[in-house]
Amino acid sequence: MITGADVFRATALAGSDKPVACRLDGQFLDLATPIRVGTRISFVFIGETGPDDGDALNLLRHSTAHVMAEAIQQLWPEAQLVYGPATTDGFFYDIRFPEGVQLSTKDFPAIEARMGEIIASRRPFVRYELTTEEGMRKLECDGNKYKVDNARRAVGAGDARLSFYSTGKPGAAWEDLCRGPHVPDTGWIASYKLLSISSSYWHGDENSDRLTRVYGTAFFRQSDLDRYLRMLEEARERDHRVIGKRQKLFVLDEMVGPGLVLWQPAGAIIRLELQTFISAELKKQGYQQVFTPHIGKLELYRTSGHFPYYAESQFPPFIERELLSELAVQGTSCADLSSRLGSGDIQGYLLKPMNCPHHVRIFASCQYSYRDLPVRLSEFGTVYRWEQSGELNGLLRVRGFTQDDAHLFCTEEQVAAELQGCLSLVKTIFATLGMTEYRVRLGLRDPDSPKYIGSAENWAKAEQACKNAALSLGVPFSEEQGEAAFYGPKIDFVVKDVLGREWQLGTVQVDYNLPNRFGLEYIGADGQMHRPVMIHRAPFGAMERFCGVLIEHFAGAFPTWLAPEQVCVIPVSEKSSAYARRVARLLMDGGVRAGVDDRNDRIQGKIRVAAEAKVPYTLVVGPRDEAANSVSVRVLGVEKDLGAMPLDRYVELIKDEIASRALTRKVAEQFAQ
Ligand SMILES: [Zn+2]
Ligand SMILES: [Zn+2]
Repeated sequence: MITGADVFRATALAGSDKPVACRLDGQFLDLATPIRVGTRISFVFIGETGPDDGDALNLLRHSTAHVMAEAIQQLWPEAQLVYGPATTDGFFYDIRFPEGVQLSTKDFPAIEARMGEIIASRRPFVRYELTTEEGMRKLECDGNKYKVDNARRAVGAGDARLSFYSTGKPGAAWEDLCRGPHVPDTGWIASYKLLSISSSYWHGDENSDRLTRVYGTAFFRQSDLDRYLRMLEEARERDHRVIGKRQKLFVLDEMVGPGLVLWQPAGAIIRLELQTFISAELKKQGYQQVFTPHIGKLELYRTSGHFPYYAESQFPPFIERELLSELAVQGTSCADLSSRLGSGDIQGYLLKPMNCPHHVRIFASCQYSYRDLPVRLSEFGTVYRWEQSGELNGLLRVRGFTQDDAHLFCTEEQVAAELQGCLSLVKTIFATLGMTEYRVRLGLRDPDSPKYIGSAENWAKAEQACKNAALSLGVPFSEEQGEAAFYGPKIDFVVKDVLGREWQLGTVQVDYNLPNRFGLEYIGADGQMHRPVMIHRAPFGAMERFCGVLIEHFAGAFPTWLAPEQVCVIPVSEKSSAYARRVARLLMDGGVRAGVDDRNDRIQGKIRVAAEAKVPYTLVVGPRDEAANSVSVRVLGVEKDLGAMPLDRYVELIKDEIASRALTRKVAEQFAQ
């Protein structure tokens, strides 16, 4: 029996790097996998990345998850393993701990020490396979219902045999049910660290077993781990939840409800500035603003298809008072109620999960002809989705959010040009905010899947239009088959922030489905009725999520146009208070958000407070400034006073900095020249 490792040994030059794994006829496998004659083999080395899970680092990380699980079971033999995959940054393992055990980060050193022993002993990852019957019997005997469930799913997905990996000799070493592959032995894990703990649920179902998710990461080199940990540290400092609290931007109040954002005045300014900015761009592109209510009848969402199919991700419907008491008198059970709501036997209302149906009804309210198209309806529309409580995360995952939404109704021929328009809008937005690194994900249909509606011809046209639009952006893009919505292809934007982290933000989708479901029509040039195509687009995605990302991107130090307070005027003493107020007044009259700090405190202290609040400019004014009608300018991030500037000139310059939505502090740059 020959393995990939044997082939490598026989063919490699002396001193060459050892592979981590191999590909046999393209399949990513352990080096210890036996090879049949005629198999094509290639080796996977450290640093290699692949389009699938098949990159070396993922393999290392998943292998480390095994080692962590073994260490945890050494310490808590009763702990039951559930699921332990690699992630983009490391790995996690979902574990069911016995009653009364509450794992904390204080346990990490003990677990890491055990992991260190397992790694130092360089134990091989040994694979052995059982028939599905033998494997199921073995797992049932072991008594871990989670692994039994995993195995059942694997068999259901077509696995003909079940594979186990033991770290050491099978039967005599720790083992886990796993498809593999893994690194050859534990010694490959050069540097690793446990990072955090969160709770999760079996199958992500809140009503199911509560699990403990232990996160960690691993690298082939210590220097890579060090760099990653430094990045994490910086990410912690940029955490939008921490900055949001410090700068009083938003609150998540348990009394109001989890995932429901309260925008404080300072945060509201940022959101409003962003809205004003986009609204102006929309006007240029011929969009029309509309307003729609936060709720709609179930019938509306039944027609659109949002209910009852996506009922799980929505707030439950509500029912008119009279009907409710009638149902109570009848003794209607909850199950009965829910099925009658689903079937349409009972009417009710829904908090809107999407703005589209409302916009569709606005379009349907007028008789349009081909000359009126495209009709572009926009709204900062607030929608509500039922996210699992464990998934909620600051502004990034919430239960109520406002989309910078719009729906374009156009003819087939107009789709391509409208897509171009949507993308150029996104481009303008990202450029203005300094998000220069982003990529585009093109979600195309899987031609072999039956789930996609509409003609093949329409799909081909829409996909080609999406591709052309994506190409025109001149940024990297990937085509992902099977990632389209069932009603049309989509373009997603994935933005990289200053720390290199990726965020999925806006999206543009072509839709042939909703116009059909609502029977939308326009009068064509031929005098006949035709069906319009709909484009959904939201460049920011959600205002909440986008602001969360922006806070982290700028670490709270926003460009001047977005800063809640743009200028803080500090008088050197009581005597200069009146002048300070005059300066602030002049700025405010020019539309600048300025305030005066004339509290009875030392100047240095006030300067520090303004810097902590990330106010872009601080003007310290004294009798000499008053006499010369000037201000002494300080800019955020620079310790010293930049110098004096005539007041009128300062006002003009900062107004220009704000109006041009400059990313840099242009006024400060005047001093450098
Ligand atoms: Zn594994
Ligand atoms: Zn929509």
